[in-house]
Amino acid sequence: MADLHTLGVAQLSALLQKKELSAVELAKRMLAGLGGNPHNAFLSVDSEVTLAQAKAADDRMAAGDTSPLLGVPIAHKDIFVTTDFPTTAGSRILEGYRSPFNATVVQRLADAGMVSLGKLSCDEFAMGSANENVAVPAAHPQAVTNPWDVSRIPGGSSGGSAAAVAACLTPAATGTDTGGSIRQPAAFCGITGIKPTYGRASRYGMVAFASSLDQAGPMARSAEDCALLLSAMCGPDLDRDSTSLDVKSEDFSRDLNKPLKGLRVGVPNEFFADGLAADVRGPIDAALEGLKNQGATLVPIALPRTSLSIPVYYIIAPAEASSNLSRFDGVKFGHRAKDFTDLADMYEKTRTEGFGDEVKRRIMIGSYVLSHGYYDAYYLQAQKIRRMIANDFQRAFADCDVIAGPVAPTVAWKLGDKSDDPLANYLADIFTLPASLAGLPGMSIPVGFGEAGMPVGMQLIGNYLQEAKLLNVAHQFQLATDFHKALPKGA
Ligand code: GLN
Repeated sequence: MADLHTLGVAQLSALLQKKELSAVELAKRMLAGLGGNPHNAFLSVDSEVTLAQAKAADDRMAAGDTSPLLGVPIAHKDIFVTTDFPTTAGSRILEGYRSPFNATVVQRLADAGMVSLGKLSCDEFAMGSANENVAVPAAHPQAVTNPWDVSRIPGGSSGGSAAAVAACLTPAATGTDTGGSIRQPAAFCGITGIKPTYGRASRYGMVAFASSLDQAGPMARSAEDCALLLSAMCGPDLDRDSTSLDVKSEDFSRDLNKPLKGLRVGVPNEFFADGLAADVRGPIDAALEGLKNQGATLVPIALPRTSLSIPVYYIIAPAEASSNLSRFDGVKFGHRAKDFTDLADMYEKTRTEGFGDEVKRRIMIGSYVLSHGYYDAYYLQAQKIRRMIANDFQRAFADCDVIAGPVAPTVAWKLGDKSDDPLANYLADIFTLPASLAGLPGMSIPVGFGEAGMPVGMQLIGNYLQEAKLLNVAHQFQLATDFHKALPKGA
């Protein structure tokens, strides 16, 4: 049997269904690979819990259940609350917290029979682009490393998810994307990830960062695997998430095999300007050429407010974060300061000790842009431009079916390179923020290698609810290429 670690979701599912492998055997093999916590990808594992879930999957299988994801391992970004594992959101303020309920997305994947290997590292409250903002374990917080070059960052904020999938520690992971946190780490680690339309996947039980942007999605090594996972993750959750879309989940695998003939691929000029590194541009240009060879036509389009997406996002996201994070006050859950004089002092000390620098920075920016006298000048203006950015996409989609371009302006940078420079991190989000602000689905697929052999990801953006089309394009590209099959040394 091929090395189980390198098999994807669909391949493992086939082995399990044919009873050539049991879920327990598979879980044991995967757990064995987690010793020493490669790449610091995991924040918690518990082999007893995992094996009990695997046993339950085997029992369902023995009783005749043929659900396709039954017994297949997954690991969850530590921003989803889980009953079986602690949830920290990468923050000291939640260290040791255990949720009394599962996030809807986690529960749906569990209902589908997936076996959880544990919780994956992420930037604190998903704020970051490098997974260097992780603050737990408080005693020795450790940044996640990129499996392609351990001196580099894996991307963020779903850096643990991307590193774990790239290093074949798990065939799949959940991630969340507020401004790029599925797409950018997927690109930096050479894997495939999709953020669905805002509202497709429930936000219930996802520790909130910026509620009008946060969206869950799958990360795996192929579009085919992402389609399987996404089908199980999505669907209405109207009683629990007021922004959940009342749209049934779909079989996102249904269009994978459609030929690309006649597909119009929009190429935004603004995504190919001076800031795009040559070593990223090369593979992207070649991938676009590849789509053309498969029957697509390339259509130049304009997204004229692309650069404004940075200031707009970095006003709106912190504004929402400042409000969302007010619940961490030392009273309801998580860390509480030991010595304090009165209630206000307890709040202050708890939050001072519990939050890291980037989180504090965003709470301050957010409170500022929402405050009397600045609200109109910043927050309201940002909301207006956000609408214009969404309108720009609708104009563009009059001429094309999907939009393609880079995910990030460079390949993954060196650990520490931008850790003291928040602005440098923010600027690197330029190509992922527009689709986030518009609430559109977006994905990243591996299309080659740049500087120092680091993976390059191409972004595909679709119109609302067009995930099946994105996955179709991605799958057709992956049928014609091998980039998604390349594994880092040691995986
Ligand atoms: N890098 C962006 C930020 O720091 C996006 C993070 C995310 O999508 N969660 O906010």
